[in-house]
Amino acid sequence: MAVNNRTADASQESLHRIFTVPEAPDSTLGMIEKELSENLNEFLRTHIAATEKPLLEIEKDFSDPAIPETPSFVSEHTQLLLNKLVSQSVHTSAPTFIGHMTSALPYFMMPLSKIMIALNQNLVKIETSKAFTPLERQVLGMLHKLIFNENESFYQQWMHSADHSLGAFCSGGTIANITALWVARNTVLKPDGEFKGVAQEGLFRAMKHYGYDDLAILVSERGHYSLKKAADVLGIGRDSLISIKTDDNNRVDLAHLQTTLADLKQRNIKPFAIIGIAGTTETGNIDPLDQLADIAEEHQCHFHVDAAWGGATLMSNKYRPLLKGIERADSITIDAHKQLYIPMGAGMVIFKNPELMTAIEHHAEYILRKGSKDLGSHTLEGSRSGMAMLLYASLNIISRPGYELLINNSIEKARYFADLIKQQDDFELVTEPELCLLTYRYVPKRTQQALEIATPEEREILLELLNDLTQFIQKRQRESGKTFVSRTRITPEKWNHKITTVFRVVLANPLTTNTILQDVLNDQRELAKESNISLPELVNLTDQIMLKRDDNLNN
Ligand SMILES: *Cc1c(COP(=O)(O)O)cnc(C)c1O
Repeated sequence: MAVNNRTADASQESLHRIFTVPEAPDSTLGMIEKELSENLNEFLRTHIAATEKPLLEIEKDFSDPAIPETPSFVSEHTQLLLNKLVSQSVHTSAPTFIGHMTSALPYFMMPLSKIMIALNQNLVKIETSKAFTPLERQVLGMLHKLIFNENESFYQQWMHSADHSLGAFCSGGTIANITALWVARNTVLKPDGEFKGVAQEGLFRAMKHYGYDDLAILVSERGHYSLKKAADVLGIGRDSLISIKTDDNNRVDLAHLQTTLADLKQRNIKPFAIIGIAGTTETGNIDPLDQLADIAEEHQCHFHVDAAWGGATLMSNKYRPLLKGIERADSITIDAHKQLYIPMGAGMVIFKNPELMTAIEHHAEYILRKGSKDLGSHTLEGSRSGMAMLLYASLNIISRPGYELLINNSIEKARYFADLIKQQDDFELVTEPELCLLTYRYVPKRTQQALEIATPEEREILLELLNDLTQFIQKRQRESGKTFVSRTRITPEKWNHKITTVFRVVLANPLTTNTILQDVLNDQRELAKESNISLPELVNLTDQIMLKRDDNLNN
């Protein structure tokens, strides 16, 4: 490489240049762009290091708090980013990366994202977004129709109505859930006579006016942690997000829900929202939405469905019945950046009734004027990008049947993997896939036998040690960089509801093959062998228990 003695300087001229002149095709940035558009997967494969550096090491590269006093050349800085950042990022689009809801993107997202960024529209108001506003409203309408399938005239009437809204686009499921519960809270504590409503007067005066001792939101113990954040920011308090037990299939226990509701009533606590989960984050299960809708109706609660991850299943005519009852929800959260294959930062909340969002309507004089179609009057966030364009493009390019294929293949791949796990005598499927998510773990054959004859005390210890083993395998597997699954902790009925560490697999990448799934198990089996040295306790206790049995047999 030629020695480069040029230094960049912070002159008017160079500043003018970065706003007007693109990088040359043979510059570092120019080459990267070329590589990216020619073979994205190859680019990521070659620039992301295969093996992981410890985070403490990486932190050293990002430890200087001083803002540079001298500028850098774009190409030089890009090289630095490649070396220090890109190389140590996570290859989420690798077909072997099957541990999270964040996965591969279709190619066309790259050039389209560039157009979106070049336009830099701000969806908070029409004056900075123009056609993007009706586009976003149409996308919300498309999702609304996918869920509720109202007739033509419904959408003619409401989709572009200035004083109504079929939902809101936002950065993700967290904001979508907060928005839904915000609407629910403001609706139950709405203006009433002299009282100007919770939005105007606050929670304290609202409670005094309505005479409640407290409020409550109900969701199963599998509820996503974003709901706790929502309860916190809405002033309800995390303790008032009441956790309902789940059955053996990780679905909300309806009897427990009913007794909890009765108990709240007795204590003058107003339950104002019941949440059903359509695809839990940890196990992928779907609550009985139809029955939840009945209960919400009976108790006059807002019925919200958190379908952040599983909502995309509605694209599949084959599997859509799994979400039956979702069309009775008052609001629904769907993340486009999960199973709709849109880049990060695309969440939505959809409301059945176009009037509901007026509960959070906000107007300001210089923008968001009354009667304007500015989207910002119904969103928690202010300035927002034109992400809806990417979803609009994807819905057109892939189309509903295309999405159906993606969804069906994912679910069927998960079923294949579940069967494969069941065929192994040293793996245990912990939760069956209802959608394309499953959990399992490795249990050595001898330990399985030991578990059957162990005393209750020994069993406790064995289960603890198995948790350590699962953690050990998962960490090693991640560090080695060949294949990746995530891990979580659940309380399966089979193990007396004891906290059990499991591998968690989400099969979203269409390029993940059956061979890769076989490799994942083989890798894990190999790593388990290594654990004999670092985790000898499991083998030792297993041996002890088995020896005791052999002694008993011999006597
Ligand atoms: C992912 C997820 C969320 C949160 O969404 P973000 O986009 O991460 O904010 C909420 N609920 C469920 C069920 C999820 O899977």
